[in-house]
Amino acid sequence: MIERKSFYIGGEWTAASDRELLSVVDPSTEQALATVPAGTEVDINRAVAAARGAFGSWSGTPVEERARLLREAADALEARTEEVAGLITQEMGSPLAFSIAVQVGNPVRVLRSFADLLGEYSFEEKIGNSLVLKEAIGVVGAITPWNYPLHQVVAKVAAALAAGAVVVLKPSEIAPLSAFVLAEIFDSVGLPAGVFNLVTGLGPVAGEALAAHPDVDMISFTGSTAAGKRVSAVASQTVKRVALELGGKSATVVLDDADLGRAAKIGLANCFINAGQTCTAWTRMLVPAARHDEMVELLRDAAAKYTVGAPADESTRIGPLANANQFKRVRDYIDMAIRDGATVVVGGTGRPIDDEHGYYVAPTVLTDVHPGSRIEQEEIFGPVLVVIPYRDEDEAVAIANDTPYGLSGAVFSADQDRAVAFSRRLRTGMVDINGGRFNALAPFGGYKQSGNGRELGAYGLEEYLEIKSLQL
Ligand code: NAD
Repeated sequence: MIERKSFYIGGEWTAASDRELLSVVDPSTEQALATVPAGTEVDINRAVAAARGAFGSWSGTPVEERARLLREAADALEARTEEVAGLITQEMGSPLAFSIAVQVGNPVRVLRSFADLLGEYSFEEKIGNSLVLKEAIGVVGAITPWNYPLHQVVAKVAAALAAGAVVVLKPSEIAPLSAFVLAEIFDSVGLPAGVFNLVTGLGPVAGEALAAHPDVDMISFTGSTAAGKRVSAVASQTVKRVALELGGKSATVVLDDADLGRAAKIGLANCFINAGQTCTAWTRMLVPAARHDEMVELLRDAAAKYTVGAPADESTRIGPLANANQFKRVRDYIDMAIRDGATVVVGGTGRPIDDEHGYYVAPTVLTDVHPGSRIEQEEIFGPVLVVIPYRDEDEAVAIANDTPYGLSGAVFSADQDRAVAFSRRLRTGMVDINGGRFNALAPFGGYKQSGNGRELGAYGLEEYLEIKSLQL
C-alpha cells in the first residue's frame, strides 16, 4: 500500500491540514492501492502563497536556466519511466506497454519540447513605434483529469514554467500518484522553492478553492465539460484567465475514394486507444452509404484483434476502465443504444474476460445509430464506436459538426487536397488526415464546448503570457 501523507508546497513536503485521506483504487482488482491526503482551502491557500512568493524571481530567471531545469526534469523522468508507468497502470488501468510509450513517453517529449522552444521563442516584438513584451501571467492553478494523468499535468506545468509562471497543481483524485513523483523530480533537479506546488484533493473542495482564489491569475483546466463550466463560473468572480480542455465526440469522415482498410484500422485504433478514455477519440465513423456494409465487415475483423485483459499482460490492448463510475457509465450507454435500436456488430454489455474482478468492458462497434440520438451526441469515454452512413459530403459535414463539441476529427481520402478542403468545413480544433501522426508542437485544443485555449508548442506557451505594449 502506497501512503502519501504530505503535499509539496514551497519546496518542502508539508503535512496536510486535515487528516482525511482519499483512496486510490486499482481498476483491475477493485482494491485500494494507495491513499493520498484530501486537501482543503487551507492547503490551497498555503500553496498559492508559496507560489506568489516565488513568482518575482522565477519570472526573471534567464530562459537558458528555465530550459536547463526542464531538460533535467525530462532526463530524471525518463530515468524513472518504468516506475512511473507502473504507477499509472495501477491507478487507472492503461496497458503497461502503453503507459511506458505514451503515459510517460509523451511527458518526457513535452518537457523537452518546451526546453527546445525556449531556445527560439522571442518574448519581445516590435510593432511600429511599440515594443511588445510577453510576460509571465503569474500564479497558475492547474486542474487535471485521470485519463492521461501525467501528460495532462506536464502539458500545463512545462508550458507555464517555460513562460516564467509558477504553478499550484491539483491533479485528479482518481490518478494522483505520478504527480507526487513529478514533485520529487522537480525537487531533485533544484527547481526553486515555490515554483511548483502540489495539493491533492477533491474537485469541489480543493479544485474550487484554487479556481476561486483571488491571488491565482489563471486556471488551466482539463476535464469534463460539466466541471469546466463550474470552474469557469467560480473563476469569473476574480476575472482570471481560464483555459479549458474539455470533452469531445469527434468524427472520422471516410470519403468515397478512401482506402477503407486503412481507415478501418486507424479509425478503430484511435477510438479504442486507452480503452476509449481519450478526449480526442474519434467515436463516430461517417461512411458513404454505398460502402457502409463493406466498412462494417472491416471493422468487425479489426476489432477482433483488440485483446482485453490485465494491464500488465503484454498481449493486452484494452485494460479495464479507470474506475467504477466509468464502468457503469459506459455499459449504461451501450445498453441505452441497444434499447434505442442500435445493432451490436461486436462487443456489447457482457463481460469480455472470465475474471470476475476489474472494470472490463468489451470493445464495441454499433450500427443503426441515428444522428441526433444520445449515443451519437454524448461523450461515452469508453471503447465504443458508432458507424453512421451519409449520402453526400454536405450531409457528412452536417453530421460531423452537429454536436456540442469540436475537439478533434479525422478525414480519409485518396486525395490529400480533397481531404484538406473537407477539413476546412469541420468546426473542430484538430483534424488528422489519413492517420497523420501526433505532433507535440502542434496546437492542441477544441472549438465550441470542447473548450478554449490551446496547449503544446508555441501556442501552448502563449497561454501563460500577458502582453504589455510600450509606446516608444
Ligand atoms: P472531471 O471533470 O471529473 O475531473 C477533472 C478534474 O477536475 C479533476 O482534478 C477533478 O477533481 C476536478 N474537478 C471536478 N469538479 C471540480 C470543481 N467543481 N471545481 C474544480 N475542480 C473540479 O473529469 P475526469 O473524469 O477526470 O476526466 C474525464 C473528462 O476529461 C472527459 O470528459 C474528457 O473528455 C476530458 N478530457 C479532456 C481533455 C482535453 O484535452 N480536451 C483531455 C483529457 C480529458
